[in-house]
Amino acid sequence: MRYDIAIIGSGPAGYTAAIYGARAGLRLLIVAGAEPGGQLTRTSEVENYPGYPDGVLGPKMMEDFRRQAERFGAEIVYDQVEKVELREDPKRLWLSSGEIIESEAVIIATGSSPKWLGIEGEQRLYGAGVSACAVCDGFFYRGQPVAVVGGGDTACEEALYLSKLCSEVHMLIRRDQMRASKIMQDRVRHTPTIHIHWHTIPIEVLGEKSVEGVRVRHLQSGDERVIPVKGFFVAIGHKPNTDIFQGQIELDPQGYIVTKPKSTHTNIEGVFAAGDVQDPVYRQAVTAAGTGCMAALDAERWLSERRFLLKATATNQSS
Ligand SMILES: Cc1cc2nc3c(=O)[nH]c(=O)nc-3n(C[C@H](O)[C@H](O)[C@H](O)COP(=O)(O)OP(=O)(O)OC[C@H]3O[C@@H](n4cnc5c(N)ncnc54)[C@H](O)[C@@H]3O)c2cc1C
Repeated sequence: MRYDIAIIGSGPAGYTAAIYGARAGLRLLIVAGAEPGGQLTRTSEVENYPGYPDGVLGPKMMEDFRRQAERFGAEIVYDQVEKVELREDPKRLWLSSGEIIESEAVIIATGSSPKWLGIEGEQRLYGAGVSACAVCDGFFYRGQPVAVVGGGDTACEEALYLSKLCSEVHMLIRRDQMRASKIMQDRVRHTPTIHIHWHTIPIEVLGEKSVEGVRVRHLQSGDERVIPVKGFFVAIGHKPNTDIFQGQIELDPQGYIVTKPKSTHTNIEGVFAAGDVQDPVYRQAVTAAGTGCMAALDAERWLSERRFLLKATATNQSS
């Protein structure tokens, strides 16, 4: 089957690109991947997406996105892309089922995944106090103590954000220094509600139904103790889902797809990237949807221009 645009990923970026592309009259396929609906299907309440004044459950919101894309004729295949050939014309996607999809343009919206510590209680209490996103979940712990794990810029940003909402922020740092930039470190150190615990690692997240505390170990003395917290924020980085694009498309040192400034164009003609897969900074549903819209508009313009040039060349050759 040959399409105008194939979209890899069915999170907010992929579905938004599909809504815009399908409404522009393009023949369009979404490959949904192993997690149809994307990361928000793993959460309960989403309170910061505009248009839902009473909040909305993540899976319900992504169901709405899907229905809106299908209403305009977007096709969806519930499969995973295993291999891509993006420099050929048409571009080709190999699905796990063995099917090969051909498309003139491709939008990559494969998202990213937070890195986890792998400690006891972390996955059991995920979504019940354990989080990897302060902007998403910090509001739920306002006025309460929380912990942040990590010593990089992201961990500092998460701690500073939480310090404006929560009673205390305990930063757990493995070494006796942070990897964060000096300015971020200074801001953290000068915030009275942030307590830095050096040489300290979390070893267990405690709580029956929701987080009640974290058991930590001091790496020099070996002493263990419990810090009572209601939220446990893991800020040790994200991994963009770009393994299948390695060697074909330009990635930054962390593996995020590099897009040209103020656009979603990648270094390959006709290949666009949207959402968390190209965004190490904001990582929000609304920003993913915004860049999904940009990718569809960029792809539509690229297709029109290319078809115009192909037609003009054919006319010149025949005259
Ligand atoms: C628990 C949790 C709570 C959150 N809460 C909020 C919140 O309250 N507000 C907010 O704004 N943001 C929130 N976020 C962040 C938000 O979910 C992300 O920023 C957003 O989902 C990114 O959208 P995306 O479309 O770029 O990628 P994703 O949502 O990550 O979707 C990626 C898609 O790509 C697909 N895919 C990956 N690899 C392949 C492949 N090889 N072949 C085919 N498909 C593939 C996956 O199946 C998936 O459908 C939360 C995140 C989490 C994890």
